[in-house]
Amino acid sequence: MAMTAPTANELKLDEPAGERAVFIDKDGTLIDDVPYNVDPLLVSLTLGAGPALALLNAVGFRLVVVSNQPGIAYGRFGPSALGNVEERIQELLAPYGVAIEGFYYCPHARFEGCGCRKPSPGLIRAAALERGIDVAASWLVGDILDDVEAGRRAGCRTALIANGNETEWFFSDLRMPTIVADSLSRAARAIVSTRHTAADTPGSRRHAGALVGRR
Ligand SMILES: [Mg+2]
Ligand SMILES: [Zn+2]
Repeated sequence: MAMTAPTANELKLDEPAGERAVFIDKDGTLIDDVPYNVDPLLVSLTLGAGPALALLNAVGFRLVVVSNQPGIAYGRFGPSALGNVEERIQELLAPYGVAIEGFYYCPHARFEGCGCRKPSPGLIRAAALERGIDVAASWLVGDILDDVEAGRRAGCRTALIANGNETEWFFSDLRMPTIVADSLSRAARAIVSTRHTAADTPGSRRHAGALVGRR
């Protein structure tokens, strides 16, 4: 689907901007997944990611990356290696007039049982606290259900990009996304079209999984 400018009616600007964010998974959501990659030359945005982030930014969503990086625990690369990847991502987003305001990583392996590895909500909570972000007005976008669960545990609405990266489909109440979309573009359009009211907060009965652009 081509990205077209949303109409004024689509942009529900009735809630305060500035404190809401979209927390974005990195690998497989913002950039194409190359396992354990820290080579900036191998970084590419997923299809439509630039315009999608520009749209979210235009309606007042701040942009924060939250990412599991167990490669650090496994000794595949040091924490500083991710700086080059961040720089490349910002470079690729610059033509769209957007920037990621913060990158938050879990450097642990699953067996370490930390509180920051998604599906735990630690990364989102830390970012929200540090940056004054209202999680209840925010979204988490990711390509697997662990992302969704982290977002819901933190109190965000959630969008699952059903691009084939989730393979286990282990569902529970906490793993039900607010919306399912087949691309970041469609997820972004659905997010900006969602009227945010108190009744729609995660956990309420109206927090139903609407399907957007599902194949
Ligand atoms: Mg991912
Ligand atoms: Zn961790």
